[in-house]
Amino acid sequence: MIIHGYLHAFLDIFYSRSCLHCNNNLNSSYELYICKDCTKGISYISNSHCVRCGTALGPHTVSTAEGCMACKERNLPFSTLTSVTYYDGAMKTLIHKFKYSGQRFLCNTLNDMMLAQENLKEIVPNIDIIVPVPLHWIKKMRRGFNQAELLARGIQQYFSKPVSVNNLYRVKNTASQTQLSRKQRQINIHNAFRVHDPKSFQKKRILLVDDVLTTGVTASECSKILKQSGARSVHLLILATAKDHG
Ligand SMILES: [Zn+2]
Ligand SMILES: [Zn+2]
Repeated sequence: MIIHGYLHAFLDIFYSRSCLHCNNNLNSSYELYICKDCTKGISYISNSHCVRCGTALGPHTVSTAEGCMACKERNLPFSTLTSVTYYDGAMKTLIHKFKYSGQRFLCNTLNDMMLAQENLKEIVPNIDIIVPVPLHWIKKMRRGFNQAELLARGIQQYFSKPVSVNNLYRVKNTASQTQLSRKQRQINIHNAFRVHDPKSFQKKRILLVDDVLTTGVTASECSKILKQSGARSVHLLILATAKDHG
């Protein structure tokens, strides 16, 4: 019995896994990377958001297929914005570990979360091509992958839609934008993207995929260039959106 007890203690040391967000022990097989409590804390974005700009709608705000009052006046370059969760709590941790700590395996979990978004079943069947927001080639080489591309591949597999990865490309390697104001980001991102062959985007309904949306200037700039290339419409699909975006 004593040996058995030691064996258990020994195995616990080597096999105990902890929640990536709160560090509590994960002790059941269904808690894969984050614990039950942290999973519960992930804020999924419901249908009570404007379909065009993704802003949360209050009890007195109305939104139609054309958008809410605020976005109708903004002349947005994209037709719809679908976001899966808010960018906070455990979701922020998962995305950070995925992107910056080389934990590429987290992509499967994040892909599953994305595919669980009910609105996708209405949007994706009507699109012609999936385009991930590109990274500059230097950044992609350093990281080893483009996170938006891996998410786009998940959608491709599920819905059998083609993905275009090199036609839209990034010419400016901007430094981290997290500390910049919206205006500064807009200046930074201006003319950051180009398209090799506009013909293959002509008259296409494009699903533009990215992992995080903070101010929306990157997604808007990509959408603008896709529209300039002749795309019929651009639909944004974002894994996680900052609460105060826009
Ligand atoms: Zn946890
Ligand atoms: Zn709106």
